[in-house]
Amino acid sequence: MTTLTHAPAESTIDPSLRHVYREVLRRNAGEHEFHQAVEEVLGSLGPVVKRHPHYLDERVIERLCEPERQIIFRVPWTDDAGQVQINRGFRVEYSSVLGPYKGGLRFHPSVLLGTVKFLGFEQIFKNALTGMPIGGGKGGSDFDPKGRSDTEVMRFCQSFMTELYRHLGEYTDVPAGDIGVGGREIGYLFGQYKRITNRYEAGVLTGKGLAWGGSRARTEATGYGTVYFADEMARHAGRSLEGKRVVVSGSGNVAIYAVEKVTELGGTVVACSDSSGYVVDEDGIDLDLLKDLKEVRRERVGAYAEERGGRARLVQDGSVWDVPCEVALPCATQNELDDEAARTLVRNGTWLVAEGANMPSTPAAVRVFQEAGVLFGPGKAANAGGVATSALEMQQNASRDSWTFEHTDARLGEIMRNIHQRVVTTAEDYDRPGDYVFGANAAGFTSVADAMLAMGVI
Ligand code: NAP
Repeated sequence: MTTLTHAPAESTIDPSLRHVYREVLRRNAGEHEFHQAVEEVLGSLGPVVKRHPHYLDERVIERLCEPERQIIFRVPWTDDAGQVQINRGFRVEYSSVLGPYKGGLRFHPSVLLGTVKFLGFEQIFKNALTGMPIGGGKGGSDFDPKGRSDTEVMRFCQSFMTELYRHLGEYTDVPAGDIGVGGREIGYLFGQYKRITNRYEAGVLTGKGLAWGGSRARTEATGYGTVYFADEMARHAGRSLEGKRVVVSGSGNVAIYAVEKVTELGGTVVACSDSSGYVVDEDGIDLDLLKDLKEVRRERVGAYAEERGGRARLVQDGSVWDVPCEVALPCATQNELDDEAARTLVRNGTWLVAEGANMPSTPAAVRVFQEAGVLFGPGKAANAGGVATSALEMQQNASRDSWTFEHTDARLGEIMRNIHQRVVTTAEDYDRPGDYVFGANAAGFTSVADAMLAMGVI
């Protein structure tokens, strides 16, 4: 799977906002993913500023395109062979208007400042949609945990936190996991934070282990939440996921729990992937095997086909989106689904797409889906269940409480239904029924903009 870059196209943006976009391009040269994320939001805001011109007069959108704070730092560490390694660490504290900065850390060799800025920008509006008191931020490093021993990962995490800790705090900035950062990494990061600060400040990181301040259902939350959202979309259109053929891309945290929830709701996931290829299993993905391979043994997806014998096949060249399905859930990474893949899906009868990953569909792919009448749920609404459950983890930490899985999962389901309702209602209010991209951008932006205006020129 290759990730694609997208050429900026201001034609999708209302003329009243194009100067804002040009300024973003000029001041953030070369940050293509950030440009794309801004273009996608500005593309929705024309009708909003027509109705509320004070957002333009007060330059709220320009302010939001500039992060409150951007931190870049050196992360030196020593590998198992005694060699010094140097990585770059980032934390973009994007907006604290609704609460402490909140958003994950990504460890992947592709991480650049523009990657973190795109993710942080998306996170502001996603977090606003949850209705919870959390601002937007994101961070990470170009460190690649793949092929590294546990002790190397630990030394890297300790060095990373030795710089980052001074910027964090339960009322300031609360990171979580993302690509390449799971329970193991959060453990090492939390351990180092605790040593440096001499405080057991559980609410400073989310995605913690259950024995030390973590929340039940947090591991499952993004994948489950995406499927709850997809289920709401289907119901709203008078349909259901039951008995449907589903393709999920990726095989990491979000993908695994999306597969689990689809299966529970009576759908069949026939394919999933990683960066080495995809597997097709017509009987439905064997979840116990996938979890063991990915969560325990940290294997490539090819091992799944080997261990399923003749029942599954591995495809190493091509796209997981070539596999015919009625429902597609991109859960791997940004720009993994382009317009060609979108046309293939439409041709094969896909009628619902919900994004578990952040910005996995290119803008051209989104246009193909919308023109074909495919129900399309953008990531900032569909995958908001992860961060929402992180906020529930913060609530439990603040009250020194620990909820049951059932209670937390029920809260997650309720939050996803509320987000769906809010997105649908906003789209209808602007006479754009069924346009989930517009509804999510307009609703998220309005919450943030109104809070900013209430606080003066910030
Ligand atoms: P993860 O556990 O690290 O899994 C990522 C999966 O995507 C892996 O199967 C990985 O394959 C594949 N992948 C990653 N980068 C790739 C690339 N450049 N090319 C091809 N395949 C790639 O990460 P995750 O937490 O599931 O996150 C997946 C997506 O969901 C990301 O967009 C993330 O921002 C978004 N998200 C995550 C959360 C959360 O709570 N974790 C919340 C909201 C949104 P390889 O192992 O081969 O690299």
